[in-house]
Formats: sequence, C-alpha cells, structure tokens
Amino acid sequence: MRLVLLGAPGSGKGTQAKVLKKEYNIPHISTGDLLRAAVAAKTELGLAAKIVMDKGQLVSDEIVLGMLKDRLAEDDAKNGFILDGFPRNLIQADMLDKLLTEINMPAQHAILIAVDPDEVVGRIAKRAEIEGRADDSESVVRDRIKIYEDQTSPVINHYKDHEILSEVLGTGSIEEVQHRILSVLRF
Ligand code: ADP
Repeated sequence: MRLVLLGAPGSGKGTQAKVLKKEYNIPHISTGDLLRAAVAAKTELGLAAKIVMDKGQLVSDEIVLGMLKDRLAEDDAKNGFILDGFPRNLIQADMLDKLLTEINMPAQHAILIAVDPDEVVGRIAKRAEIEGRADDSESVVRDRIKIYEDQTSPVINHYKDHEILSEVLGTGSIEEVQHRILSVLRF
C-alpha cells in the first residue's frame, strides 16, 4: 500500500496514519516528525529548520525531499508507506512523482481528510496544551493554515488530475474517520 495523506494542520493525518500503519504494516513517514527529530538531534539541518518551522513557514523543498528520499530507501518502506506532510506544494508534488517513479513505487492513493478551518484551530489549541509544540501557538497556527490554503491545497487537484484522490470527512471520532478511510482503501 502506497498512500499519501492530505489535509490541513490538525485534520488528523498523524492520528490516522498511526492506525493505518498497524493495519497495513507499513511505515508512517511524516516529514514534520523527521524535521522535529533533526531539531531534537541539533544537527546543522535541524538548527536551520527550527527557525523556519517556529514561524510556521515551509522548510526548503530540497531539504525535505532529501530527508524523504533517505527515509524511503530504508528497508521497512519496501512494502509501501503512508506519507504525511509531503507534498506540501506543487513543486514538492512534482518532485515526489519523479522520485516515486524512479524507485518504481508510484503512489496508489491520495486521501484528503476534510475538516473545516474553525475545527482545526480548536483541535490544535488542545494539542498545544498537551504537547507544547513550538509552532502550535495561535498566531503561528493561523499562518500555517494560510500556507496550507495558499500552497498545499492546490496539491489536491494534482492528485485529482492523476485520478487517485479520495476525500473523506475528518469530523467525528477517530474510529469513524478510520472506518471511512479503510472503506476507500478496500474498495
Ligand atoms: P502540521 O501538519 O500539523 O502542520 P507537521 O508536523 O506536518 O505539522 O509540520 C510541521 C512543520 O514542519 C511545518 O509547519 C513546516 O515548517 C515543516 N514541514 C513539514 N513538512 C514539510 C514539507 N513537506 N515541506 C516543508 N516544510 C515542511
């Protein structure tokens, strides 16, 4: 199973990816998690990325693609993957198509988890209390949502054009959303 998850910040991509990872026994590859690991390890890349991430902006396409390429080359990705947080703009979408074609693993499904903006602001505020992520403050969240609307939402049409897009409603319980996604994948 080779799957790309799309959706606004706070739409539940990470939560759903964790469930799908168990279901299909494939890795959950989150570029946000990869970047946060680099930040925590205080690598040169991580230190540079932190400045950009704390402002809610996008890290450079080349850096994120490089990280992703390395991650996809690991053994556990041989049987597929769940991508979360990539592609985040049309340039990344083209880069990803190229990379996946090169390694002979084109994406089979792109699933958009649709949630309205008011709902995601509330969800992230809750997560901020629990996890204390530096980029979950209210003003940064607004900037991240704006970047999503301007740069990431066009990626939806990219996958529509490739005829692999499905949209599921992201409201309701985790299990309800999971059920909707699994129904699409089993179809
Ligand atoms: P969310 O989906 O909740 O916005 P992520 O964990 O996916 O959070 O990403 C957190 C931050 O990491 C982003 O705001 C951005 O700065 C950076 N990031 C993650 N993925 C990418 C990407 N594909 N391209 C550029 N920057 C990225």
